[in-house]
Amino acid sequence: MLAIGLFSNVGMPHADVRAPSLIEMAEVALRAVMRDPDGFILMIEGSQIDWAGHDNDADWFLDEMADFDETVAFVRDLVATRPNTLMIVTSDHVTGGPSVEAGPGPGEVVITWTTTGHTSDTVPIFASGVQADRFSGLQTNYEVGRKLREILLSVID
Ligand SMILES: [Zn+2]
Repeated sequence: MLAIGLFSNVGMPHADVRAPSLIEMAEVALRAVMRDPDGFILMIEGSQIDWAGHDNDADWFLDEMADFDETVAFVRDLVATRPNTLMIVTSDHVTGGPSVEAGPGPGEVVITWTTTGHTSDTVPIFASGVQADRFSGLQTNYEVGRKLREILLSVID
């Protein structure tokens, strides 16, 4: 099964007004691909985190991070009900070099930026499910792709 959903000719609106939301798109996509008895690969991207970093827009950045975080939690809970499923959450880079500090009021944060471009920061990778232990520790980006390929080839007849 191959499915694609296109909702805008250019970038979609920001997370606070986006329709459908990232979590709604993820849910529809997951429910469709999870029916495939041969398994599935689904990539869900919170792409406007990058865009907000390029613009050094803290409010937009935080909205997109919260939207992505809620989507990850939803996907994690759904995927946890399926044996033999691997879920990976990572990024290919950091954008804007954000530094998050405590703000003046309770629960407030202040974000300062070091660039409007991508940085060379190390990014985290979170994995859960089958063979998740292969993604622990420090590794290069290409190793992640190589490991995913190995896992995929090991389950294909
Ligand atoms: Zn970028």
